[in-house]
Amino acid sequence: MPKGQIRKALSGFYYVYHEGETYQTRGRGNFRNRNITPLVGDWVEFESTNLTDGYLLEVLERENELIRPPVSNVDLGVVVTSCVQPNFSYNLLDRFLVTLESKRIKPIIYITKVDIASDDVIEELQQMREYYESIGYPVLFSENGKKEKLTEFFTDNLTVFMGQSGAGKSTLLNNIAPQLDLEVGEISEALGRGRHTTRHVELLEINGGLVADTPGFSSIEFLEIELEDLPKEFPEFLEASQFCKFRECMHHKEPKCEVKHRVETGEILQSRYDNYLQFAEEVKARKPKYNKK
Ligand code: ZN
Repeated sequence: MPKGQIRKALSGFYYVYHEGETYQTRGRGNFRNRNITPLVGDWVEFESTNLTDGYLLEVLERENELIRPPVSNVDLGVVVTSCVQPNFSYNLLDRFLVTLESKRIKPIIYITKVDIASDDVIEELQQMREYYESIGYPVLFSENGKKEKLTEFFTDNLTVFMGQSGAGKSTLLNNIAPQLDLEVGEISEALGRGRHTTRHVELLEINGGLVADTPGFSSIEFLEIELEDLPKEFPEFLEASQFCKFRECMHHKEPKCEVKHRVETGEILQSRYDNYLQFAEEVKARKPKYNKK
């Protein structure tokens, strides 16, 4: 039975890519009863006698899935964040990073509006970049409108764009894939929120990889992360934790905590630690109905 990947879902049809061809298929795998919604990005088994009359039979196990946009098996998340208008937010950035880490999606940080930032802001951004790259996250600036550096990451990956409202996600996606013609601007982004959730998603081939044509969520609640997993979503905490006195150290009130020690020495960014404590409070305060999926 052929295997392929859903690259578009529209009006009850799933468009499955297999060996250079796209097959239009309908679900026949009893998915509703099994509580499965086939997603763009899914690897599937299907049968088809021609290109327009196929049937989707099985959805293979997913690596991960996002709700907005509804895409599975995501490798890369480009976190689009502006440095001015709105101002750069370490808190929001760390929220995206933690969420991506929890889904085993590799983040790339993309800073927009660098061209209109003051020298002071740019100096701070340089320090930010140095730190975040030291813990494994590539940081790209929007300088000179260069997009090649970003598209280099796409090869062999499935990439989704996400980030704060007004950061320029749609502008950036349009720049990378001009055929998209996404609505641009904060107002249309706010108005378009409802439409974006129902809008179909399609994976575009760019530079030897796939890119979701619909930008993702712009705010984050930690609905799926368990408290005991939270410190593991900070790579530099995970690295330090092997030197904590207690194996399951939460880096809060425990004595001889290496994470706290490294915050004191400045090796770990204070804002990362403050955000960690804040996120932990949010997870603890979460309504019980969200505690398990
Ligand atoms: Zn600790």
